Amino acid sequence: MNANNNEVVALRGEGRLVGCSSDEEPGAKTMIFSQNEIPNQLVSNRSSEFMHRYFPLTTIDSWNDWKWQIRNAFTSIEDLKKIMKLSEKEILAINNLKGRLPLRITPYFASLIYNTKTSHPLRRNVIPVVEELLETSSEKSDPLHEKSSSPVKGIVHRYPDRVLFTVTQVCSNYCRYCTRSHTVGRLDRLGRHDYEKAFDYIAAHKEVRDVLISGGDPLVLSDETLDYILSNIRRIEHIEIIRIGTRVPVVLPQRITDRLINILRKYHPLFISLHFSHPLEITDECTKACNKLADGGFPLGSQTVLLKGINDNVPTMKELMHKLLKIRVRPYYLYQCDLIPGSSHFRTTVRKGLEIMKGLRGFTSGYAIPTFVVDAPGGGGKIPLLPDYVVEHNNDHIIMRNYRGILCEYPEK
Ligand code: SF4
Repeated sequence: MNANNNEVVALRGEGRLVGCSSDEEPGAKTMIFSQNEIPNQLVSNRSSEFMHRYFPLTTIDSWNDWKWQIRNAFTSIEDLKKIMKLSEKEILAINNLKGRLPLRITPYFASLIYNTKTSHPLRRNVIPVVEELLETSSEKSDPLHEKSSSPVKGIVHRYPDRVLFTVTQVCSNYCRYCTRSHTVGRLDRLGRHDYEKAFDYIAAHKEVRDVLISGGDPLVLSDETLDYILSNIRRIEHIEIIRIGTRVPVVLPQRITDRLINILRKYHPLFISLHFSHPLEITDECTKACNKLADGGFPLGSQTVLLKGINDNVPTMKELMHKLLKIRVRPYYLYQCDLIPGSSHFRTTVRKGLEIMKGLRGFTSGYAIPTFVVDAPGGGGKIPLLPDYVVEHNNDHIIMRNYRGILCEYPEK
């Protein structure tokens, strides 16, 4: 099986509105689902209103078809102008994206931002502004030095017992702060030959017990390609756990079909690392997608990047963490934003991250508290940071400050 071809076909659509589209018959049903698969009929009121206004000839079945969502993604100023008023800063940025992280927004995610102000947290996530074109001296295109830790195409082997396997460079939505903006969105695809070499590398390295499949977003690959990748990894005896890193349940929840769940559950223990940045992302559709994954038995964790003006305050972060737990997603990491080019408008200080952690610990359930990490520039790996709770520590005792500022002592002898 050629693992790549299906993906390419699905992603070449140029984001046309269905009413103007030549490849979609008005009102036609898109037969993507197999006969025995029941399409997910859930469409929230907000998305339904958006769909009727901007895709008036589209059926709910089409809207809920993830391939339709990708084919009709918004990828240009012309597309976006049909649904929202763009600011000068946004227009200038989009006009200058050549060679940079592309623009791509699924109709579903567009329905969450179409009549918002430029400061709206979800809008800022996906629509570039002119600050993205400005680079500072501390920013680097590959801040984590992943290229130098890559023994074969697609594999990053930095930590002793685990590898990152970037199986695609494509995502259904592009996040403007993406750590891998130097590779993501480029059509430098992995072919079957690259996949085979990556499987061989993992098989030859018996110290590797954990494979993180990431990208791009692996869940934009076809079911068949995912099955092929997962089966080849699972048959390697020393691989104990497999993880998939994805933002799909947030930006393309229609992708979490029963068929996909049935494929993924063949490869337990399989962990799924999701990527959330704001409580408004947790819609009815996203909740349903996460429920399906949780019911499929996949432990779900969430990674969040700390973003200036989006989630860099305690109430927003606490609300996000609480909402995640309600949909059975355990907060896992809170990341300091990486030093990628054009990210200064997103970056906060590390001090701000520590303040947020201090505002969570003790004030909410331990399950709602992620680990705050800085992914060290230059490939130093993740370094966890905690607010300063230790006041004094010697051979006799440790004196600590609790979450209310009260000093507590514990003997060391
Ligand atoms: S989904 Fe992940 S890989 Fe894709 S653009 Fe967003 S952060 Fe980058």
